[in-house]
Amino acid sequence: MEFELVCGLETHIELSTKTKVFCGCSTAFGGEPNTRCCPVCLGLPGSLPKLNRQAVEYTVLAGLALGCSISPISHMDRKNYCYPDLPKAYQISQYDVPLCHDGQVVLSNGQVIRIERIHLEEDAGKLVHENGRTLVDYNRCGVPLIEIVTKPDFRSIEEAREYLELIQLTMRYIGISDCKMQEGSLRSDVNVSLRPKGSEELGTRTEIKNMNSFTFMERAIEYEAHRQAAILRAGEKVQQETLRYLPEENRTEPMRSKEDAKDYRFFPEPDLYAVAVPPEEVERLRESLPELPQTKENRYRQELGLSLEEARLLSRYRKIAEYFEGVLPHIQTPKNAANCILGQIFRRLKTEEDKEQAEIPVSPEALGELIQLLEGKKIRVDLLKKTLESMLDTGKGCMEFLTPEDLAGISFQQLREMCCQAVETNPKAVEDYRSGKEKALKALLGAVMRQSKGRADAAQAEKTLRELLTAPAARA
Ligand code: ADP
Ligand code: MG
Ligand code: ZN
Repeated sequence: MEFELVCGLETHIELSTKTKVFCGCSTAFGGEPNTRCCPVCLGLPGSLPKLNRQAVEYTVLAGLALGCSISPISHMDRKNYCYPDLPKAYQISQYDVPLCHDGQVVLSNGQVIRIERIHLEEDAGKLVHENGRTLVDYNRCGVPLIEIVTKPDFRSIEEAREYLELIQLTMRYIGISDCKMQEGSLRSDVNVSLRPKGSEELGTRTEIKNMNSFTFMERAIEYEAHRQAAILRAGEKVQQETLRYLPEENRTEPMRSKEDAKDYRFFPEPDLYAVAVPPEEVERLRESLPELPQTKENRYRQELGLSLEEARLLSRYRKIAEYFEGVLPHIQTPKNAANCILGQIFRRLKTEEDKEQAEIPVSPEALGELIQLLEGKKIRVDLLKKTLESMLDTGKGCMEFLTPEDLAGISFQQLREMCCQAVETNPKAVEDYRSGKEKALKALLGAVMRQSKGRADAAQAEKTLRELLTAPAARA
């Protein structure tokens, strides 16, 4: 029997507020264990939580960016469970009324992924296993988290990956999280089930917890799909359970049987007020959102005529996109700016981090000025590239590196003379070319470009050389 894969994702994202969600402790990553804690985040008796306004705003921003409706009134709930990383023995979360609900994202293949809800909650501490002992670090306790829950709308591993990348990109763009998977500020639970192709009913799912790498997530889904297919083919039933993925062995193993909501004994948090987000506040936050990367990508393609690849790369990093858009008013053809940024500039921004920061010593205006020279046919592409490198090296404007001669351009007559000279002084290359060695033309072209100090139009020079080389041969 053929099966269809069905997945739903529950993604946790740590918000980059300065302080924790219910106290004033720092949320900075790392630190000496148990130094960023206080009675509130340690859940000591008598301490009272106070809700961080910024965390609520960030959650609403995430919801708006993913097309959600915002609950005007929501509240926090206690989710009770006993585990050493949770000192209060309950997590403050949201249960029946989340801050955001009913959003959606659209993937590149047109598949709509419905967002069921986004709620605000607090992170737990970290267990550190060493030398046969388990230690606990409570620094992460009380760091604000949002959980984004999708409907079971993914039909392939690729869709799950694209969604998660899009979430990462979007949350970074709106500035609410750095979404670093390696530091755990983005982690996702994956729910996996199979059903016979064509069936509308959902199969029994398993949930793989805490995937913190794209590759592991893909492998885990793949493994789990195979495992479940084998069970179903043998005529047996998949057990609904919670699994962990073991990357070294590339397999999943059960963690615990799945709790139901009733096991958590949810009830409204009595130490906190309800959370009110009036419509004016929602509108204010909506207006503060930047143009989102997916919208930018589409606009770059449709209005600016960039390729998918170019549009994707330029819209991917917010500061790069701003830089690119800063060049546009100074030039005619957006593609020229795209070429400079994705070529010379990207080569110097080696890491993802560099591209996020986008520290570029040449201002958008200065790049615009250089590109104008190209568009006005004052310089050629080779000289533009060379000049841009010098500008990037020094931070100086293009006129520092261009002589009046550079800008004078080359007349057709001058170009033809240079080509003739190249033909006369390179008899070997000429002979090779005439005996069918196409490559020999490159040597002649090189000679012309050198003589013109890179100012000649390479395409024009090649055309002229071909004419010179074929004409006499035909006469002979
Ligand atoms: P819980 O909160 O107990 O994990 P939910 O019913 O809220 O359970 O579902 C959590 C996630 O599991 C959601 O992302 C949902 O889309 C997904 N999911 C639910 N049923 C299935 C299924 N049969 N197959 C795959 N994913 C599923
Ligand atoms: Mg779950
Ligand atoms: Zn604290």
